[in-house]
Amino acid sequence: QIADSLFIINNFAREYFTKTLFETEEGRNVGLSYFEERGFSEEIIQKFQLGYCANEKDTFVKTALSKGYNLEYLQKTGLVSIRYEQPVDNYRGRVIFPIHNQSGKVLGFGARILVKSDRAPKYINSPENDIYVKHKVLYGTYFARHAIDKLNECLLVEGYTDVISLHQAGIENVVASSGTSLTQDQLRLIKKYTKNLTILYDGDAAGVKAALRGLDMAIEEGLNVKVVLIPDNEDPDSYVRKIGAPAFREFVAENKQDFILFKLQVSMRDAGADTQRKSQLVNEIAETIARIDKLEDFTKQQDYIRQCSQLLKIDEEGLVNLVNKYIRERM
Ligand code: ATP
Ligand code: MN
Ligand code: MN
Ligand code: MN
Repeated sequence: QIADSLFIINNFAREYFTKTLFETEEGRNVGLSYFEERGFSEEIIQKFQLGYCANEKDTFVKTALSKGYNLEYLQKTGLVSIRYEQPVDNYRGRVIFPIHNQSGKVLGFGARILVKSDRAPKYINSPENDIYVKHKVLYGTYFARHAIDKLNECLLVEGYTDVISLHQAGIENVVASSGTSLTQDQLRLIKKYTKNLTILYDGDAAGVKAALRGLDMAIEEGLNVKVVLIPDNEDPDSYVRKIGAPAFREFVAENKQDFILFKLQVSMRDAGADTQRKSQLVNEIAETIARIDKLEDFTKQQDYIRQCSQLLKIDEEGLVNLVNKYIRERM
């Protein structure tokens, strides 16, 4: 029942931060205008239950304590910590993104600084506790699950604001990994709704790398993975605002690539004329193909072998043998 107490505190905090955002002068002048400058509509702010925490030492914690919430549990949620023996608000002066579970209960928060600073992190996220287990959570599942079900596809982005902007643009089958690399548990969560996963990561090098890291696991889970690279220096949020919803949809449809082939192309470009790296790459791709479940997807495996051997300009038979070697090693 620690879990129950944490849920109750988070729910109180969520309401409190929303009230602060809409009903206090600082909230409106600072928090709400920040969201408005980012192009968030009031409707979308309400839907995602966004909030603001006043830029003062302990406004939230004082209210919480006066209502009888337990200090130890307030600390466990990460909303409060102790400085010089005094309880203080951890998210002061930040806008608040509640993180919901699949049924809409608040597991934790992301809190974003308003002005870029070298002294403080851009986002502070809740610490792990009895209810918030990072590697099991994907931001936005509660708002996305019906659309994922209906469209039989899940879009995966990096950040909170990507999810929110895409929703506002009418693209609702989207969840975020919140900047961490994908885990098996998160992939299983997606698989409950669909087998079709499309990754829309930031166009920078870090985005590509993060996307590639999740690949082998996703294949092992039996997901069909596609990738769309967002242009350099943009993310789905900035890009959809720049080009508009219809053009963004078109961009996604036209730039959706098969992930294994994408990985191969990236690595081939990196390897260049280096023969040693090329043979290493052949091994890697064979290992990836070996992860496709043969019984479930025999033709899929065959297709990949054919397409990859063509791209690599190697003998198809040789790649078959190599894939089989890895399959045997995996048994
Ligand atoms: P914004 O558009 O508000 O700058 P973003 O979502 O584009 O935010 P990114 O820098 O692309 O921010 O990071 C993607 C995600 O990674 C964030 O939404 C957040 O969940 C997480 N993240 C980013 N910076 C941090 C940080 N300093 N600490 C913890 N998590 C972070
Ligand atoms: Mn990025
Ligand atoms: Mn962004
Ligand atoms: Mn981003």
